[in-house]
Amino acid sequence: MPEEHALLSASAAKRWMSCPASARIEELLRGQFGDGENKYSQEGTTAHELAARSFVEDISKMLFPNEEMKECVIAYHDYVMQIYQDCLAKDQFTSKFHEVKLNYSKYIPDGFGTGDTVIISLGKIIIIDFKYGAGVEVSAVENHQMKLYGLGGIDTYDFMYDITDVELHIFQPRMSNISSWGITRPQLEEWGNSIKEVGIKAFTGDAECNPGEHCQFCLARGLCRARANYVLDLQKDQKDFQVLNLEEIAPIYEKALQAESYIKQLKAWCLEKMMSGVKIPGLKLKAPRLTSAYSDQEAVEQYLRSKGYADAVIHKPRELITLTELKKLLKTAGYREFEAAGLVVKTEGNVSVVLASDPVPEYEPKEAILAEFEPVNNNAKGGK
Ligand code: SF4
Repeated sequence: MPEEHALLSASAAKRWMSCPASARIEELLRGQFGDGENKYSQEGTTAHELAARSFVEDISKMLFPNEEMKECVIAYHDYVMQIYQDCLAKDQFTSKFHEVKLNYSKYIPDGFGTGDTVIISLGKIIIIDFKYGAGVEVSAVENHQMKLYGLGGIDTYDFMYDITDVELHIFQPRMSNISSWGITRPQLEEWGNSIKEVGIKAFTGDAECNPGEHCQFCLARGLCRARANYVLDLQKDQKDFQVLNLEEIAPIYEKALQAESYIKQLKAWCLEKMMSGVKIPGLKLKAPRLTSAYSDQEAVEQYLRSKGYADAVIHKPRELITLTELKKLLKTAGYREFEAAGLVVKTEGNVSVVLASDPVPEYEPKEAILAEFEPVNNNAKGGK
């Protein structure tokens, strides 16, 4: 797909806008170690190819690698067609395009991306992005990737249509997530002008690394020196006090979260590279531990019975598969039906602490829960 080759791709906009140095660093690493393709990205590519084909072929005759992908592609197809039909009912000149190159190089050097679906109707450009990922729920609201697509859409189709408004949609069936957001053309173009400077920095690579939450999306996340220094060097933040005051905790908590993910990613990166033959000085691979399992369940049963063990002793009680396994088994629609039958109870998990900048709404513990905790004595504030 064209987007794979754009240095400043729309899909990575959050990362390169937060850390403009990362675009050229990624390019360098890609040259050395490949582009980090994995089974999830390959799965996404296949789902997109099938989704695009669903608009030019008979879906009922198409072959899919599995039921889940088939269900998701059909759901995306239906979602697009519903919007298209609604637009057509109001404007017979409505146009629809798929897998189109959206050029936003007027704002970002060499910038372009691929619009999964573009619909233009009554002065509005509607861009629909099909997300096959099931890891992180993505919102269309103020989404940099979608806004770049919007700018690209205006520029690509401006010569044919009088576009005044932009509507951006994310369709993410594996997370049951549909999100849409609108912005006027002048507002979007104003935003486009405001990011020109960061685009030039990212393109030239003339910028300092800026570690942060966005590092998790960077190819350099396990190797970046700035990130390693940032997450591992708490020393320089220490003051003279023996006890931290409350104002000091959030920045350390933020670093701890990043250190946690950095260490995980560094370990995964080292394992992947070393398994593919890369030698990293000071590290070596350890052979997997041998684990034992029954070679033949039936033969084991017969053997134990012959030794006089009763079935009740040698068998575990029958157990249902987990809800996660059941979701996979029933697929999205089947699982919804199962839930509607009242067969799922929801119990609250544990409360967790996140950064105040996290978009989730703040949780207010009930008084009864608060009473279980000792009040925090903040005598330490600024003291020894
Ligand atoms: S890991 Fe983080 S700091 Fe380092 S280049 Fe990537 S985004 Fe920038």
